Amino acid sequence: MAGWRCPYCQQLATIISRNVSGNEHLFSNENKDGPLCIRTDGNNRLDDTCREYMIEAALYKSAPDNSGTYRSIPPPLLTWRLKPKSLAPVLPDYIPPAIREDYEEACLRRESGRSMSGALRTHLLV
Ligand SMILES: [Zn+2]
Repeated sequence: MAGWRCPYCQQLATIISRNVSGNEHLFSNENKDGPLCIRTDGNNRLDDTCREYMIEAALYKSAPDNSGTYRSIPPPLLTWRLKPKSLAPVLPDYIPPAIREDYEEACLRRESGRSMSGALRTHLLV
C-alpha cells in the first residue's frame, strides 16, 4: 500500500492491487534487441473522489521463466506516461485550453530536460 497525490485533484489517495490493472504484450519477430515486452498499467484510486485514472507504458527485455513463459525483465528500456502526460498537477477545465496546453508543454519540457540531464550525467560517469 502506498500514498499518492492525485495529479488531477491533489487529494492524497491509496494505491492497492485492486486499483491497478496491467498487461504485457510480448513480441520478437527477430528484431535487433531480441524478445521484448510492452507493459501497460492503468490505475485509479477508489478513495479518490475525482475518479480520474492514470495510464503508463514501458518497454522491457523479455526472457522465459522456469515454466517457459516469457516475462518482462526490469528495469524498463523505455517508459511513457500516457495519462496524464506529466507529473505536474493537472489544471482544471475552467482554465482556457491554450493556457493548459502551454502549461502541459512546459511541464513536459522540464521533465524531459531532467531525464536528459540524468542520462547525460550517467553517460559521462561511465
Ligand atoms: Zn483525484
